[in-house]
Amino acid sequence: MYEVYALKYGERDTTACQFFHRESSHRTLTLHYFVWLILGGPHPILVDTGFLDDDAQARGIRNYASPAEVVARAGVKPADVPLALITHLHYDHWAGHSLFPNAEFWVQKDEVAFWTGPFVRYPAFGQSANVGALAGLVTLNYAKRVRIIEGDREVLPGIRVHRVGGHTAGLQIVSVQTARGRVVLTSDASHFYHNVETGQPVQIITNLPEMLTAFETIHALAGPERLIVAGHDPQVAERFTPVEPGIIRIA
Ligand SMILES: [Zn+2]
Repeated sequence: MYEVYALKYGERDTTACQFFHRESSHRTLTLHYFVWLILGGPHPILVDTGFLDDDAQARGIRNYASPAEVVARAGVKPADVPLALITHLHYDHWAGHSLFPNAEFWVQKDEVAFWTGPFVRYPAFGQSANVGALAGLVTLNYAKRVRIIEGDREVLPGIRVHRVGGHTAGLQIVSVQTARGRVVLTSDASHFYHNVETGQPVQIITNLPEMLTAFETIHALAGPERLIVAGHDPQVAERFTPVEPGIIRIA
């Protein structure tokens, strides 16, 4: 059976009105930055890659640790990760790819198309990108280290990716069968529990109906065990079990 861990590598403060869609409250909101690790199969599977020191500096991230270091602390050498599922290509999910030199990266076709397409020139979208890391996607693809997939896909028996879109053009979420039930790694389909539990979107959107449908998909996948892992929520450490600071066992 699979085990799932959320690994925290940074924090940043913002305000509710800057973050949630049509939100008036100015209260402070703290985002936690995670990558996720799936163990118990024939090899470890990483979900997302975090970012490097340059983004940590430029974007005012507190308590940054390299995602490679955090993965190593969880007992997996970064070079021993053969597969990384990339939920989407925002800087905080993709810009750390070079830390995992032997991984093949699975990303949705719609996501690749968007970040090489006509709208990235606008800051509304472009500010979420690390351009150098996106350029690396092309190089890695020619090196046969990128698998561009379309729609839902089984990764291994009991592990699936589900294309939901909404927040980004080809956002995919990950479900993992565990002894406790099915874990749903929502990534930024639901940054906070507030998103999926109240239906309030985040401000960064490519398709609002898809984002709302994604909330329904998360609920449907999770089932009665409610093993939902929001993408940036400090509450992950309260709802699940920290085994040491920054390493949270989900199931
Ligand atoms: Zn994110």
